[in-house]
Amino acid sequence: MEGCIFCKISSKEVKSEIIYEDEDFLVFKDIKPQAPVHLLLIPKIHIDNINSIMSLDSIKNFNKIFYIIKEVTEKLGVDKDGYRLVVNNGKNAGQEVNHLHFHILAGRAFGWPPG
Ligand code: 5GP
Ligand code: ZN
Repeated sequence: MEGCIFCKISSKEVKSEIIYEDEDFLVFKDIKPQAPVHLLLIPKIHIDNINSIMSLDSIKNFNKIFYIIKEVTEKLGVDKDGYRLVVNNGKNAGQEVNHLHFHILAGRAFGWPPG
């Protein structure tokens, strides 16, 4: 998708600090971390957000997301204390980058309810 910053990160046109990569997904450090650990997990294919998912078949490999999160948080040693996963989906949630992404936030306690 032309002009999409996360597509550019995924194609390495834009540099990022990559934590994990496979053929379908990328995990990299957020440029403006909101916690000691703040990662973004993205599918390499461009999807604006959950609203844009076309079919179950188009996301058939997405069950891997949860395993990647498990592996990455274990590797960084933040799994035991816990972490927060956030998907800002659309305007009211404050989604700024229109390429589906999971925030993985860790290293401190998080309040509830969210702001
Ligand atoms: P959203 O508000 O869309 O859920 O979150 C977008 C996130 O992407 C923000 O936390 C922001 O700091 C991060 N971000 C935006 N541009 C870049 C970039 O060029 N590189 C990296 N690593 N993170 C970015
Ligand atoms: Zn994109």
